[in-house]
Amino acid sequence: MRQVLFGGAAALAMALAGCNQTTEAAKVDAATFLANAEKELSEYSDYASRVSWVNANFITDDTDWLVARAGSEGTLMSVRLANATKAYEGQTLTPAQQRKMNILRSGITMPAPSTGTPEEQKATADELSEVMTRISSTYGKGKFTIDGKEMNLEELSAIIASSRDPRKLQQAWEGWHTISVPMKTDYARMVEIGAAGAKELGFSDIADMWLANYDMPSKDMEATVEKLWGQVQPLYDDLHCYVRGRLNTRYGDAIQPKTGPIRADLLGNMWAQDWGNITDIVSPSSSNPGYDLNKVLVAKKYDPVKMVKTGEAFFTSLGLPALPETFWQRSLITRPQDREVQCHASAWDIDSLDDIRIKMCTQVNAEDFSTVHHELGHNFYQRAYKTQDFLFRNGAHDGFHEAIGDFIALSITPEYLKQLGLISVDPPASADMGLLMDRALKKIAFLPFAIKLDKWRWNVFRGSVTPEQYNTAWWELSKQYQGIVPPGPRPADAFDAGAKYHIPGNTPYLRYFLSFVLQFQFHKAACEQAGWTGPLHRCSIYNNREVGAKFIKMLEMGASQPWPDALEAFTGTREMDASALVAYFAPLQSWMKEQNAGQTCGW
Ligand SMILES: [Zn+2]
Repeated sequence: MRQVLFGGAAALAMALAGCNQTTEAAKVDAATFLANAEKELSEYSDYASRVSWVNANFITDDTDWLVARAGSEGTLMSVRLANATKAYEGQTLTPAQQRKMNILRSGITMPAPSTGTPEEQKATADELSEVMTRISSTYGKGKFTIDGKEMNLEELSAIIASSRDPRKLQQAWEGWHTISVPMKTDYARMVEIGAAGAKELGFSDIADMWLANYDMPSKDMEATVEKLWGQVQPLYDDLHCYVRGRLNTRYGDAIQPKTGPIRADLLGNMWAQDWGNITDIVSPSSSNPGYDLNKVLVAKKYDPVKMVKTGEAFFTSLGLPALPETFWQRSLITRPQDREVQCHASAWDIDSLDDIRIKMCTQVNAEDFSTVHHELGHNFYQRAYKTQDFLFRNGAHDGFHEAIGDFIALSITPEYLKQLGLISVDPPASADMGLLMDRALKKIAFLPFAIKLDKWRWNVFRGSVTPEQYNTAWWELSKQYQGIVPPGPRPADAFDAGAKYHIPGNTPYLRYFLSFVLQFQFHKAACEQAGWTGPLHRCSIYNNREVGAKFIKMLEMGASQPWPDALEAFTGTREMDASALVAYFAPLQSWMKEQNAGQTCGW
């Protein structure tokens, strides 16, 4: 993930909209207004980033207080600026000016309306803030007691990941899903306030506002998402069918029937969004890659800093400048022993220039090796667009920002590991099914989950799903997209959507779906530019300056142009297209089709 102070979750999570400034004439011309706004935002960002950084690195009551205060200042500022753009509606603006106005107007995640007296306005804003804080902290503090032991999400997730006892799985799954019951009333109230706020800013609802960040009308963006899903759905269906068959073999008809949806608690992850923990059940047994990266990294004496240096070397091999000295002085790369820190990996851009950092409690294993590349992707992107105007120092859209590092990580092939001296023998083609299955369990299983999450939220924001229907709608979509069902009947008061962080945390989720599509699209285009003719999963663009030059061109554009322009600069195409993802997994898909012969796929 990326720590964002403007245009994203942190400071703009809630905001007060309105003030009826539409009728007020502009006090200064558009150019002056925007220059002032960017100066103010940039100064705020310098300050608020440092406050957040200190808080994340030293969690105390005092730093919590500081970060709440900085957040509230940011909220007031962003709302004031969003409203002020109304005075320039209908004026002739340059494309860049119009773009900046749109960024100011639609970059708020949850706006509050401004009806009534100033006191009433403040009361509404305060209520929204309280409701959102309460939902978030309910999630953060969520615990469930099993056999006298109180367990948090980490502990319950460990059971879901490693237990193969359906009774224990069901208990842990149902246990975690009790924590969100108290959030439901607050969530409905938040949606109610936000809907009024979005309307005041000129959007039909919050969904419309979220979808307005993609350089096209909201309904076109929604249609684009449907098109992309349609491209990958057959691949997901094959994976679903194959995994269901293996689960049936493992657990028997009473637990997982041969037909119909999959029981959600059997897939190794609390939300069934990543199936990487059940490789022992589903991996093709004949397909051993011959090495285990977890063990290799340890054997070759990698430490956390060496992991990050290795990640950096991939980016510099493409022609990007090395990370600044301050990155190494100021980043948090290992968990400190003496204090509480937020260990969830993140990338930071403190001064929007050169002071970039990561914060992660790096472990020497394959997963963190991949995460290092993901986080550095954010940092190298940030550094590449630092000369843009402040409002354009951002990803072409939010999916791009998440896709950069993952795209690089797709080049961590056996051949690349050999170049690093980590392995000495390139595994044979027969090992490919295992490697591809590992990736599919993470990347393909995730797609319908990501779609479902925001589809549910869009329906809620539009009022087509009412609070009474929250849970049934959640499971209808879960069944429709993921083909999963809960392990047992759900209680009448359940609010299962709230058991996933991004619902109480109010973080838009579409970006992750788009990022998964884009990273394969980048990879395929890059491999073609490199003249690669072999299978895509064996292609690494390490050390390819020619590919790097085009890649850097896209990075340097930041958010200064509509995203199709940025996409074109690197890949030569202007549309998001999931066919690269499908092509990447083509060998696995044919293999799964053979395995699925005779099964009734679908649900
Ligand atoms: Zn990220």
